[in-house]
Amino acid sequence: MARYTGPVCRLCRADGRKLMLKGARCMSDKCPMNKKRGAPGKDPKVRAGKRSEYGLQLCEKQKIRRMYGMLEKQFRITYERAQRMPGVTGENFIQLLERRLDNVVYRMGMAASRKEARQLVLHAHFTLNGKKVNIPSILVKAGDVIAVKETSKESAKIKALIEGLATTTTPKWLELNAQDAVAKVATLPARDDIDFEFEEQLIVELYSK
Ligand code: SF4
Repeated sequence: MARYTGPVCRLCRADGRKLMLKGARCMSDKCPMNKKRGAPGKDPKVRAGKRSEYGLQLCEKQKIRRMYGMLEKQFRITYERAQRMPGVTGENFIQLLERRLDNVVYRMGMAASRKEARQLVLHAHFTLNGKKVNIPSILVKAGDVIAVKETSKESAKIKALIEGLATTTTPKWLELNAQDAVAKVATLPARDDIDFEFEEQLIVELYSK
């Protein structure tokens, strides 16, 4: 599956918000967003004009798409799937994004960013219900069990990540056994489980045009 491979800090600067795409670096002084450099190609001293309604919708869509590390086509397909599901489209959409395996690995604390989680999944370090898996976009279901593959636990890098799980806070829809590096999807994620600003209604309005 294709993905964006350019400089990710540029995406935060373009958006004007921290999208937390680089794990620990995002919380450090090295984050370019702390230096008030402004959007790429724009003079930071020139004040940006007020965004139109369309601009706000587009901006929110780009922010969420970049946070989950998805390309437009894949993001749109996910939205269309949410539309076909019973219930509220915006909430279905959030749930589908959160149910992605790379996001679950990130949420269980095995990676500092979704990008890193995606890499770990691609390198087949995890099992889903006991079977080896290497597809970041697979959607988990309630009752699914995600675990670090036994042979991967011998790697120094994976060992260090597992040790870090002891201090991890997971969302309430995930039950984590930090010692064994196993997470169970207790329930499907809900709207309240989102821990960042996500105005899904703006995305629904944009895609409904
Ligand atoms: Fe964004 Fe993180 Fe880069 Fe800061 S360090 S600009 S939050 S990706």
